[in-house]
Amino acid sequence: MGDFALRTCLALYFCPMQATGLATDPICALSTPPGVGGIAVIRCSGAGSLQLFQPLFSKDLSAAKTHTVHFGQFAEGEAWIDEGVVTLFLGKASYTGEETLELSCHGSPYIQQRLLQALVGAGFRMAEPGEFTMRAFRNGKLDLSQAEAVADLIAAESQASHQLAMHQLRGGFSDEIRELREELIHFASMIELELDFSEEDVEFANRDDLKALVESLLGKIKRLMDSFATGVVVKEGVPVAIVGKPNAGKSTLLNALLNEDRAIVSDIPGTTRDTVEDVTNIDGIRFRFIDTAGLRETTDEIEAIGVERSRTKIGEARLVLYLYDPTELDDAQLETELQDIRARLSDGAELIVICNKTDLASPHPEHLSISAKQGQGLEHLHTALTASISETLSSNNTVVTNARHHAALLAAQSSLMEVLNGLAISITGDFLAIDIRKALHHLGEITGEVTHEDLLDFIFSRFCIGK
Ligand code: GDP
Repeated sequence: MGDFALRTCLALYFCPMQATGLATDPICALSTPPGVGGIAVIRCSGAGSLQLFQPLFSKDLSAAKTHTVHFGQFAEGEAWIDEGVVTLFLGKASYTGEETLELSCHGSPYIQQRLLQALVGAGFRMAEPGEFTMRAFRNGKLDLSQAEAVADLIAAESQASHQLAMHQLRGGFSDEIRELREELIHFASMIELELDFSEEDVEFANRDDLKALVESLLGKIKRLMDSFATGVVVKEGVPVAIVGKPNAGKSTLLNALLNEDRAIVSDIPGTTRDTVEDVTNIDGIRFRFIDTAGLRETTDEIEAIGVERSRTKIGEARLVLYLYDPTELDDAQLETELQDIRARLSDGAELIVICNKTDLASPHPEHLSISAKQGQGLEHLHTALTASISETLSSNNTVVTNARHHAALLAAQSSLMEVLNGLAISITGDFLAIDIRKALHHLGEITGEVTHEDLLDFIFSRFCIGK
């Protein structure tokens, strides 16, 4: 009987999502971007795709093998649409895990539309956004976090975000979550077993071991959650605020960093009245630079709003570059300014003090010294900018980049805290089991071992059509 109970609960925890009403009907969509291109690729997937497609192709493919490419003419009845190639993925050996065809045609929007119309006429349905990837998930080709990584990979605009998405796509993150779950499942099954023998007052799950395990899991979850701050900035661009007094050279520096004339440079103080933002990649990391209005007391109403906005930007930035002109500021004034800035920095933000205009004055021994106008010292600034982010990325640890994963980790953390609290007051196994189950549930949400339709719809609707 014990054995039976153990098997039942293990089955419950390990059972992958059993989706009801799996759609396998043949679908089609343009998988390359709409518009004119050298070639375009239309993807078809679903049971019987080849048979449906055959009347539209000049060659007999009934005996063709999987993973083969065939040149021929696409036609609807007597009317030729184009000539091109079709690649066959038969059986389950495809991205979606279903019979898949990829039609490569000439990249004219007219041909793409004609071919899609012909496919729909032959019995295919136009795919919903993300439907190919959703099928890959349902057929066990990818777990949920890997499917989400596909979307991130397509959207990656820098080497660093590409690296994080690839790590997630290869299953690095999923493996880590699965390990956490499996460690807990062992205890969950032991505790559930105790419940079967509740009359006999036996303890299969050693409480000290459980406490040690939960503490170790909480440590791992915390590390993952902490990495989210880096994950977000890598994906969206590290926010860097450039601040300092008017005329320190902030706009000149922004232009030098962006390699273009983005901000107005002028020797009239107070020219930058609002914040100017732009993104650029430095050493594979995307940065979002924010040139702010100069920090000074002003009676000009509009400039005052800009100055206030600059102060807010300091609190939002991950890196703050404080720029000063050494011919205008002595050490005591500088220290007062820096104290004010430090008080406004957010948790974990870094301040880099930069002495500008070194073509006019000698560099400061303790500060990064540059000439924004002459482009001197910028390579040291690049190194300083990338240092903190590169360190996290090169540590080869998993970095959480997705808000949904972060929320699930937070929920798992809170359930595990409840387990610890329960252990501290020696509550009974049935209550412990409830919180352990909740923690397992939240961890399972990340990889999709536990999921529901609304969540899937939400995730896949954010994909583009054809993916
Ligand atoms: P902001 O008000 O802090 O944005 O300062 P700007 O970038 O508009 O620059 C103010 C003035 O300082 C302009 O005349 C710039 O050409 C000049 N400037 C900026 N950087 C340097 C530098 O490195 N050397 C020298 N000599 N002048 C600079």
